[in-house]
Amino acid sequence: PGLDDLRKAVGRLLKRSGPYEAIVKEYIRDIQRALISADVNVRLVFDLTKRIRERALREQPPPGVSRREWLVKVTYDELVKLFGGDDEPEVKPPYTPYVIMMVGVQGSGKTTTVGKLAKFYRSMGYKVGVVAADTYRPGAYEQLRQLADRVGAMFYGEPDSKDPVSIARRGVEELKKRGADIIIVDTAGRHGYGEEEALLKEMQDIAAAVKPDEVMLVIDAAMGQKSYDLAKRFHEATPIGSIVVTKMDGTAKGGGALSAVAATGARIKFIGTGEDVDEFEVFRPRRFVARLLGMGDLESLLERIERLQGVEEFEKTVAEMVAGKITFRVLYRQLEQMRKLGPFRKVLQMIPGFSTMLDSFDEAAKVSEEKMRKWMSIMNSMTYDELDNPELLEQRSRVKRIAIGAGVEVSDVRELYNYYKTVKRMMRQLRKRKDILERFAKMGRL
Ligand code: GDP
Repeated sequence: PGLDDLRKAVGRLLKRSGPYEAIVKEYIRDIQRALISADVNVRLVFDLTKRIRERALREQPPPGVSRREWLVKVTYDELVKLFGGDDEPEVKPPYTPYVIMMVGVQGSGKTTTVGKLAKFYRSMGYKVGVVAADTYRPGAYEQLRQLADRVGAMFYGEPDSKDPVSIARRGVEELKKRGADIIIVDTAGRHGYGEEEALLKEMQDIAAAVKPDEVMLVIDAAMGQKSYDLAKRFHEATPIGSIVVTKMDGTAKGGGALSAVAATGARIKFIGTGEDVDEFEVFRPRRFVARLLGMGDLESLLERIERLQGVEEFEKTVAEMVAGKITFRVLYRQLEQMRKLGPFRKVLQMIPGFSTMLDSFDEAAKVSEEKMRKWMSIMNSMTYDELDNPELLEQRSRVKRIAIGAGVEVSDVRELYNYYKTVKRMMRQLRKRKDILERFAKMGRL
């Protein structure tokens, strides 16, 4: 059970048959079960699956993609969004010296993570210093001192002091003086049972003393349902800026981490995947979710969907050109789409009816990426009038002015103009093709 079940839910979905609504219903139930057994906060699960269900029932997949495949894509999108979106987290500090304060309960892997983080930033070329401000756990001082030594970080600690706030303050000051770019403060994770209030108060006091640039919450992937409340309470004490999820190697649960994200609004920056200092990675939402949903197949599905969406856009543009006037504006859009789609020949082969015309399209199909870029920059040098009325380029003075503006040869501008005339000719041919006109009409594009 756990997040692994998401993969099974997707597998089952793709095999199912029957009315779409029923399939969606069963699938949604499967995902809910998987997420809840993975310890994801229940409200979060319902919010997520509600969005998936709504999109699944409302959206039309691009032609060539089944509705069930689209459902998988929607699930992927929504999960990625939940985990922080398309981009990778920014791990480079925006300025130096930069103070990171670690918080989390004992045993979550906080001290280990301080070592991993120190090593990570060392390898990026930063001077790193660490401060041992956990005065409760026996051995924490020595553990961190040795870790710092191993990864080549400066170290500050006061083995005999019981005052974490002063240690933290003095440590940050001292390490700044010694030229550290990044200073990581390790803190306690426990005050003894039932003393959470005291722990949170201590975090507040340390934060007030060192004014961290970022508070990083360390959370054990296997922590489960408690993660949500815990993260929330830490967040209320010291606003959490980022999250590290540890022990990703040991559990299929990991849903607690997602709940922590939801409770704090912070994003996961790193994950720990083992006990060694090297077992540590920047968290990549897309890759993570792809893995959750069952890799290989999914990746090729996503690629196919993206390509088909591109083809759909392209067809829209062609339909527009068939129906109306061809301007440089439309050509610009067409070139943009072509660049995304890759080899034009292949694209045309994917559109029924078009493949038979490949020969007459050949000239246009061979336009290189480099040329497309050049032409786009030429069009950027045109006036609105010229963009709307390509025939104005019959005037030599205009061609010359545009060439100078774009920093290209006059022959380049002429070439683009000839391309325009070719496309115009192609569209005239297309207008005579009943099958293609019907196809566009059926798609509601004409
Ligand atoms: P702290 O009390 O939060 O400072 O926790 P520690 O850093 O001492 O770690 C507690 C235990 O978890 C140690 O045995 C670590 O080796 C282990 N640990 C930390 N991070 C990871 C991880 O990413 N994967 C695994 N498998 N173990 C980890």
